[in-house]
Amino acid sequence: MRLSEARHWVFDMDGTLTVAVHDFAAIRRALEIPPQDDILVHLAALPAERAAPKRAWLLEHERALAEAAQPAGGAAELVRALCERGCRLGLLTRNAHELALITLQRIGLDDCFLSDDVLGRDEAPPKPDPGGLLHLAAAWDVAPAHLVMVGDHHHDLECARAAGAYGVLVNQPTNPWPELSDRYVRDCFELLAQL
Ligand SMILES: [Mg+2]
Repeated sequence: MRLSEARHWVFDMDGTLTVAVHDFAAIRRALEIPPQDDILVHLAALPAERAAPKRAWLLEHERALAEAAQPAGGAAELVRALCERGCRLGLLTRNAHELALITLQRIGLDDCFLSDDVLGRDEAPPKPDPGGLLHLAAAWDVAPAHLVMVGDHHHDLECARAAGAYGVLVNQPTNPWPELSDRYVRDCFELLAQL
């Protein structure tokens, strides 16, 4: 894909648009989740009465992180440039929708995303499931192959691959997942320079 011609972009949030701050090991300890378990998958498998207080704790913990969000290098510049070119922008996060909106506001990008195009863990199955990307493709009436998914984690790349979208890895010092990534750039500044 020629990225300069791409018009439909979906971003991961934490660690992609923002500086990564989640301490997932500490979150697992606080919620008594085994170290090897996926946090959202683990919570989804619990009985409702046991999951509810853990979900509530997670939401408040992540709310504090969202309130203090800092933009990752080049992220605001890239999103602003795509926005000004008239690109359709979506956000697909394992965080919560309401906290994604707070985060976007904190980093000054809330005007670049429609609320309906910000999918959190209650609006879409958690990545690497491709459901969120497929939902946006359908909502935007484009083939998934025309979507660019930008993220910092293999979940983002696996999600893109499963949907048939183009996966761009950012914010890793080297590329640990070359087999999963269609493109690797060090950060969003480098990605913007390629557009
Ligand atoms: Mg991330």
